[in-house]
Amino acid sequence: MERTEAKAKIEQLRAEVAEHARRYYELDAPTISDFEYDKLIHALADLEREWPDFDEPDSPTHRVGGKASEKFAPVRHAAPLESLTDVFSREELFAFGTRVDGAIEGPKQYDVEPKIDGLSIAIDYRNGVFVRGATRGDGETGEDVTENLRTVRSLPQTLKNAPERLIVRGEIYMSRAVFEELNAAREISGETMLANPRNAAAGGLRQKDARVTAERKLDLIVYNIQLSSENYATHAETLDALKQMGFDVVPYHLYDSIRDCVERIDWIGENRDSFPYEMDGAVIKLNDLAQRTRLGSTAKAPRWAVAYKYPPEQKPSRVKDIVIQVGRTGVLTPKAVFEPIRLAGTTVSNATLHNQDFIEKLDVRIGDTVLVQKAGEIIPEVVAVDKSRRPEGTVPFRLPERCPECGSPVVRDEDGVFLRCTGAECPAQRLRHLVHFASKDAMDIDGLGPAVVEALVNAGLVKNPADLYYLDAQSVAALDRMGKKSAEKLIAAIEDSKQRGLARLLASFGVRQVGVKAGKVLARHYPDLDALLEANLIELMELPDVGEITAQYLLDYFASPQTQHQLRLLREAGVSFESKEEQADDRFAGKTFVLTGTLEHFTREEAGALIERFGGKTAGSVSKKTSYVVAGAAAGSKLTKAQSLGIPILSETDLIKMTEESEDKEDGNGTDV
Ligand code: AMP
Ligand code: ZN
Repeated sequence: MERTEAKAKIEQLRAEVAEHARRYYELDAPTISDFEYDKLIHALADLEREWPDFDEPDSPTHRVGGKASEKFAPVRHAAPLESLTDVFSREELFAFGTRVDGAIEGPKQYDVEPKIDGLSIAIDYRNGVFVRGATRGDGETGEDVTENLRTVRSLPQTLKNAPERLIVRGEIYMSRAVFEELNAAREISGETMLANPRNAAAGGLRQKDARVTAERKLDLIVYNIQLSSENYATHAETLDALKQMGFDVVPYHLYDSIRDCVERIDWIGENRDSFPYEMDGAVIKLNDLAQRTRLGSTAKAPRWAVAYKYPPEQKPSRVKDIVIQVGRTGVLTPKAVFEPIRLAGTTVSNATLHNQDFIEKLDVRIGDTVLVQKAGEIIPEVVAVDKSRRPEGTVPFRLPERCPECGSPVVRDEDGVFLRCTGAECPAQRLRHLVHFASKDAMDIDGLGPAVVEALVNAGLVKNPADLYYLDAQSVAALDRMGKKSAEKLIAAIEDSKQRGLARLLASFGVRQVGVKAGKVLARHYPDLDALLEANLIELMELPDVGEITAQYLLDYFASPQTQHQLRLLREAGVSFESKEEQADDRFAGKTFVLTGTLEHFTREEAGALIERFGGKTAGSVSKKTSYVVAGAAAGSKLTKAQSLGIPILSETDLIKMTEESEDKEDGNGTDV
């Protein structure tokens, strides 16, 4: 790999990891599996090792994920809550053993424990009484969740024969049984389902109201003494002592060599289902505490333990049917419906087959036995077909040539992957479009979920989004299961949504590739919809993140008579077309930039576009009129000339910084006192 390529790859991985870490630790809403996340971290660490000068102290590879949130009081951990180094193969496991042998002579014992997939906490006991508990946070500082922890029944409030001073580390989790029970109840009451036990536990523990935590029926299992006034010689001794004190302790098995651990590691992996909790690996730890002290820790993890990560759980099931769903933009999505199976803590019975190409690649047929896995422990996916178990008489599956909802012909997309219904009046499309319009990411109309939209459409009250703004409470109240109160509430919520502003309005139109993000970009550049309607292709394409295809979709959308009719109705109803975003500024107005040398972050064209976006100009040669010279690597005569003329020289980073700084910083009026 080339130097610049490596750098770009490292930066890309860091950004990816940061985003997934935020989703996992701060939003409790991961979109990839822990396994995949760990692999990203691994890939990043490998690259940083190979290119040490790109390694940075604040890289996620040197940190334990997560940040203490502001909701709870911070707690500084007496002993850090370290992370674990992951291994993904026998070889990596044995390499760990070799490292230990290299550092410490003589016999060693290792123990193998399941790695419970919950939330790590530290709990503090004084004279055997539970006084405080905190989340891991960044490993140094966590959140005080004492009150919430008091609702955890398997957390002993008092201990038997406890040392005077004791801090224990353990995992808060939601048992599979509780998870199923809660989700079943949620399904009936129409609440959103919990994604997986880990998320349910994380969300439950970080509730402001301890009663909500109590409802989650969380459990605790412990696996380490962080600090004690008592002395112990081995890890096994500490676990036994914890058990005596009254804790649920992680099951452990001792072995005399790393090689002997393998059997147990495999056994745990194969019998994951027999444990009450989810797990994502096994932990292999050196047993002797004095040996541990001698090995010490890296910045992130102890050298005396590793986590052996299992690949995502996969299970076979039989495809009973392949059904077709018609989406908001008319895309036909095939979905495999199979015999229910338990996977990573939930029961799953269907998975998307994406499109015709995907179906053909795997050759999935109705009647086939497929291998299903859960990506992100959230979204089930079909990974393979077991052709040896294919029954007689099956036929390759083909998506229909007509929309199953409206019978209109379907066409293949330009990019060739998706099939789309061409029916302008397709009810499936309309329905999904309306649901999208009202959704959280779009106009955010409270109480207007799929069921209500369907009722409105079926009653003939609404066909297109604009119709929503012409509803009256009386006709809504006449709907099944509606009632006067909720009808009035709905009308008020619809009224409320008129003020969402341009960014959300654009996102709500459901134009392909124009979601919240593009909506925001557009709304930053146009003060209102009317200004945007004047824009041409070239102008749109110059905006950040708006490519030619997106720009063309927008223009086509605005050009259609149907759209124009809708916009008229929306305007007349009083829906705001105005941008609520801060407008992009022209901070470089009147400034001329000259680019020279090799730029690393962008091409010359991109740098030029960036400057122009802020109202500046670029020129080819340096003169007295030049405001700045941006010099990359190996800059030549232009740089020398600029220096002789006393023109300010910027690095690429300086330029980026200038575009990122907020405006008010630049022309602060000094009114701060
Ligand atoms: P990671 O965060 O993936 O680096 O892995 C470390 C996490 O594993 C810690 O936060 C612990 O909460 C968790 N863990 C689960 N079970 C165990 C165990 N038996 N021993 C040590 N850590 C465990
Ligand atoms: Zn259709």
